Amino acid sequence: MDRRHLFRTGLAAAGLSALPTLVRADAPIIPIRVNAPDVFRTTVCLRPFRAAGPRIETEVVGRKIVVHNYGHGGSGWSLSWGSAEAAVKLAMQSSPEKIAVIGAGALGLTAAITAQRAGADVTIYARERFPFVRSARATGSWTPDSRIAKTAAVDAGFADRWERMARTSLVLHRGFVGLGGNPVEWMDQYVLRKPPAPELAPSSLPPAVEPEDPGFVYLEDRLRDVVPRFHAYTGVHPFNAGEIRRGTIMTFNVASYCHQLESDFLAAGGRFEAMEFHTPSDLSRLKEKVVVNCTGYGARALFRDESITPVRGQIVWLVPQADVHYGLYISGLLVLARRDGIVVQATGGEMSGWNDDNETPDSIAAQAALDRLKSIYA
Ligand SMILES: Cc1cc2nc3c(=O)[nH]c(=O)nc-3n(C[C@H](O)[C@H](O)[C@H](O)COP(=O)(O)OP(=O)(O)OC[C@H]3O[C@@H](n4cnc5c(N)ncnc54)[C@H](O)[C@@H]3O)c2cc1C
Repeated sequence: MDRRHLFRTGLAAAGLSALPTLVRADAPIIPIRVNAPDVFRTTVCLRPFRAAGPRIETEVVGRKIVVHNYGHGGSGWSLSWGSAEAAVKLAMQSSPEKIAVIGAGALGLTAAITAQRAGADVTIYARERFPFVRSARATGSWTPDSRIAKTAAVDAGFADRWERMARTSLVLHRGFVGLGGNPVEWMDQYVLRKPPAPELAPSSLPPAVEPEDPGFVYLEDRLRDVVPRFHAYTGVHPFNAGEIRRGTIMTFNVASYCHQLESDFLAAGGRFEAMEFHTPSDLSRLKEKVVVNCTGYGARALFRDESITPVRGQIVWLVPQADVHYGLYISGLLVLARRDGIVVQATGGEMSGWNDDNETPDSIAAQAALDRLKSIYA
């Protein structure tokens, strides 16, 4: 018997059967507390963007077969499992018993587990592990076409490969929903539009400036059958907004997800070794012949791959708050109230952070993002 039925029969017993049909009431939307003591850190991450999309291909380096698996822009978590599937397929072509994975971020961990599931004995070699990898500083939402490539630079098969990666990843991510610690969970997201501005005389308006189209590939329409839709929201809310839409998005509690992935990898016999590589010839130090290279932005220096453009993004983190688990988006600001911290991110335009490799936090921009969040609540 479901809880709704129980509730109805309970009401009937209490003589309240004349009530109209019951619908699930929404949990109240609790405003996020935005006070200085609640800010516990500000982080910066670099998206490893490649105009042609992620590099997933084999290269022979000395006596090693290197399968590259890097350059996922703003979609590394989102596409990780599907990318791992493609990379591990290449790595298993010579049926190796042992595989080395370089990197312990989103791409390294998922590639390592996928290689184990394909039957290989896997060691991860990495300079950093969670919480020091760049993947730990991501927003944590399923955004498979966020700054993933440029239309002018991709080959004809890119969209199909991307779709397969996105669909495979979605299935694998879903397998972590409901586990202890909620590594992956669905969350309501509210998309807000500002209240209508007071009408101004045309002469007082600044001239309209069309933003330059950066030419990024947008493919999410291909996933219409699996991506939840957004609908107008008319319920009670605390927002200072003219129009609200609500949808359900897949989110990653990255602390818990990394912990789960590391534990799964170790439980299947995997090993971690701290190691830094300075040039491709350093790979000769490894005992494994087949190497999967998941070094993310690090591949730019290690493999001298200047096709990687850094795209800087900053997040201000507020401590988690009880009963506050939702996402918000309003032009220029993205907020995700995760269980491991509330992400507050000034999004700027699509070109924001472009070719900027400065990983030092900007405290003025951090304060502006917090002020903007405060102003969202009526
Ligand atoms: C602000 C921001 C928000 C984002 N939000 C999202 C999001 O919500 N969803 C999403 O899908 N994506 C998001 N991204 C993108 C995502 O963070 C990246 O695509 C992803 O982290 C890349 O993961 P990776 O494993 O390739 O690299 P990394 O996490 O950087 O891992 C690289 C690994 O390789 C190791 N390594 C590197 N070089 C060497 C070397 N020379 N020797 C030894 N080891 C080395 C590192 O130590 C590390 O272990 C966001 C990015 C930014 C900047």
